[in-house]
Amino acid sequence: MQRALITGINGMDGSHLADLLLKKGYEVYGMERRTSSPNRTNTKHLEGKIIFLHGDLTDQNSLTRCLKQSNPCEVYNLGSQSFVGESWNTPEQTSDVTGLGVLRMLEATREYGAPVRFYQASSSEMFGRMVENPANENTPFYPRSPYGVAKLYGHWITKNYRESYDMFACSGILFNHESERRGIEFVTRKITDGVARIHLGLQDKIILGNLDSYRDWGYAPDYCEAMWLMLQQKKADDYVISTGETHSIRNFLDVAFQSIGIVEWASYVGQDPRFMRPAEVDVLRGDSTKAQTELGWKPKTPFVDLVDKMVKNDIKRLS
Ligand code: GDP
Repeated sequence: MQRALITGINGMDGSHLADLLLKKGYEVYGMERRTSSPNRTNTKHLEGKIIFLHGDLTDQNSLTRCLKQSNPCEVYNLGSQSFVGESWNTPEQTSDVTGLGVLRMLEATREYGAPVRFYQASSSEMFGRMVENPANENTPFYPRSPYGVAKLYGHWITKNYRESYDMFACSGILFNHESERRGIEFVTRKITDGVARIHLGLQDKIILGNLDSYRDWGYAPDYCEAMWLMLQQKKADDYVISTGETHSIRNFLDVAFQSIGIVEWASYVGQDPRFMRPAEVDVLRGDSTKAQTELGWKPKTPFVDLVDKMVKNDIKRLS
C-alpha cells in the first residue's frame, strides 16, 4: 500500500489532499503540532481515516520521528506560516517555519535514507512584483513580503537537494487557490463569510484593505490533484499551477454579492488601513502550460463557480 506523510494536515490543502489520497487508496499520515486543542475544523471528518502524528517544522528530530512512524513513499510538505499579511508581524517565525522548515524536512528525509518522493508547496508570492505576466517556471522571482522571501528559500533549497543528492523533490508553484475550507483571514473567505452574514442579517459591513489587487484564483481540490501528479512522473521537476485568469478583489465582491442578489455592494463594504500591507503584490497571473502539457493537468472549476460554492457553503454553515 502507498503511504503518504502530509505536513500541515489541518490546513485547507492538507485536508483536501488527504481526501484525494484516501480516495486513491493511500494510507495517509497527517502531521500536526502538539497543542492543547488542535484545530481540526478541516479534518474532523478524517479522524479514524488517517493517522495524526505530532511534529513541528522547527524541530528536526520530530520530523525524523514522523518519517519513522509513517515510513512514507511520498512526503507532501504543506506546513507553513501561510498568511502573507501576518508575515510582517512575525518575520522571523515565518522564515523559520516557512523557509528553514523546508530544509529540516528535506534533511530529515535525506537522512531517513529510503527512496521518498518529496513535494514542496512553493507559491506564486515568490513572483511578487511580476517581472513577466503571466509568470512561468522561467520567470525571475521578486518576492514582496517576508512570506514570499521565505517561500523562495524553500523553493531553492528543494531544487538544491534535488541536484545535490539526486532526491526526487518537486516544487509546485501554486497560484492562489481557495475553497470552502480557506482560513477566515484570507480575503476570499473573509468576503464569502461576510456576504453570508449580510444575507442572514448577522452583519452590516465587510471591512477590507486594498480592493485593487488582482489574483489568479483556482479551486484547492483541483490544485491538490496537480501535487499528486507531480510525484507520479518519471523525473522530478517544478511546475506552475494556475488558471491563467486574473480577477480583482472588486470582481470577487461583484460575484459574491451577485450570488445573494445584490448588484450595488458599495454600501456593504468599508476599507481600513489596518488591512493594507507595507508592500503589495498588485497582480498575479500564472502560465501553467508546462503542467498542462507534461502532467495532463487542467484547472476544472471556473472562477464564478468557486465564489458561488464558497458563499453557498458559508450560508449553509451559518444558517
Ligand atoms: P495572498 O495573495 O496570499 O496575500 O492572499 P490574501 O487573500 O491574504 O490577499 C489577497 C489580496 O487581497 C492582497 O492583495 C490583499 O492586500 C488584498 N486584501 C484586501 N483586503 C484584505 C483583507 O481584509 N484581508 C486580506 N487577507 N487581504 C485583503
